[in-house]
Amino acid sequence: MNIPLLFGHSCNYFIFMKIKFCGAAREVTGSCHLITLENGTKILLDCGLYQGGDDDGRSVEGSTPAGNPMQGFNEKWHFDPKEIDFLVLSHAHIDHTGRVPKLVADGFKGKIFATNATRDLCTIMLMDSAKIQESDAEYFNKKRKNLNDPEKTPLYTTADVYGVIDRFCSFNYEEWFHIHPDVKVLFRDTGHILGSASVNLVIQEGDRSIRLSFTGDIGRPNRPILQDPMPMPEADYIICESTYGDRIHDSAPNELEQFLQVVHHTCVEKKGKLIIPAFSIGRTQEVVYILSQLHFAGKLPKIPVFVDSPLAVNATQVFISHPECMDEEIHRYLIDAEDPWGFNGLTYVRSTEGSKALNNIDKPCIIISSSGMMNAGRIVHHAFNNIENKRNTFLMVGYCAPNTLGGVLRSGAKSVHIFGENLQVLADVVMMDSFSAHGDQEEMYNFLSNQKATAQKIFLVHGTLDRQEKWRDYLQEQGFKSVDIPTLGEEITV
Ligand SMILES: [Zn+2]
Repeated sequence: MNIPLLFGHSCNYFIFMKIKFCGAAREVTGSCHLITLENGTKILLDCGLYQGGDDDGRSVEGSTPAGNPMQGFNEKWHFDPKEIDFLVLSHAHIDHTGRVPKLVADGFKGKIFATNATRDLCTIMLMDSAKIQESDAEYFNKKRKNLNDPEKTPLYTTADVYGVIDRFCSFNYEEWFHIHPDVKVLFRDTGHILGSASVNLVIQEGDRSIRLSFTGDIGRPNRPILQDPMPMPEADYIICESTYGDRIHDSAPNELEQFLQVVHHTCVEKKGKLIIPAFSIGRTQEVVYILSQLHFAGKLPKIPVFVDSPLAVNATQVFISHPECMDEEIHRYLIDAEDPWGFNGLTYVRSTEGSKALNNIDKPCIIISSSGMMNAGRIVHHAFNNIENKRNTFLMVGYCAPNTLGGVLRSGAKSVHIFGENLQVLADVVMMDSFSAHGDQEEMYNFLSNQKATAQKIFLVHGTLDRQEKWRDYLQEQGFKSVDIPTLGEEITV
């Protein structure tokens, strides 16, 4: 594929910039793309964790199948971390940032550029990720100690995260800044999570400039809390996500009603537990916001609601600190409300003991817990303890990569492997994709439509191949000239 492309500009000569796809290539997690300029400068876009196996990407039962090219992904690099000059992050989700502590531990010495909110979220989310990896390794080793299996070591520790924090340089949206004399960057809001941005680069090589834009994850218009996604400046080359490139989401108007029906069926009719896997920051607040609307409208049955997440409490302050990421109405609500993410009957559970105590509750309740894809964190314990009870319901409100526990449940599996045990799926599994933080085909196309005249090539990343092929076909039908689906490790010269 190393065929230089002739630029469609007035002057005829070749420019040899390279883009290497080092993660989320024909996969949904592990976002990581390397740009190498003609002068050798190396810029990494995202440095995410692959979340299809166990938390450090090694194969576990029921997840990454043997022979999967992603096996061991999190432990190795498609480049030398010491050679990377700059890292630019699109947003704080762990599948876009979760290997940054390892990158630093393995020799990266440069600056990390992100929006202000992404920097703030990374500080707490990477620390949480390290704690999850430490405690999962400890739990795994304790459970397996009689089986003579090799000990599991965390991919990185909380100590490694301290090496990351002072490398951040953060900027607001809509503010061009230079990361190198020849490279300027603009963050523009994608409305996906707090602080999420497209990364728009203008790279000067000789007397030419190349415009390269990376969508990061594209959010959805008209959702509560966040701003609508904003189209990127016109670009020559685009690296674009593909998560829902093949489908249209349910429309939102019935969302509250549908949500209420699931609550009623599970907690009133079946007298069971409603368990909602959700990212601690972002989706959890959105679910709590909806529950509080139902509560204050007098529609929510009188059942206890638990947010089982040590991170969710800290999130309130981060949200209030970043009005630039949300619509005015919700920001005013956050400032004015006595308890913006709470209501009578809702309890935040910080401690491990408190989380374990939820197992002993034998009455209807709602538990919101992370991680959203159910590949790590407290939600795995809730699945272990509740999946074999038909009174319970797992309500899936976010995207789950196919090889994660959440993805396996979404596929309709009748049994799952959790902590080395085979469990029957007797609980109901209900999906509500209208909550998705990812735009669907039409929403992503609207986001990209201003690029038709300028885009020389679009590279599709962050999607399963079947969805990417449909997304590519759709974009080409709509008039985009050239759309590629690169493979993992492929390097393309432009
Ligand atoms: Zn994301």
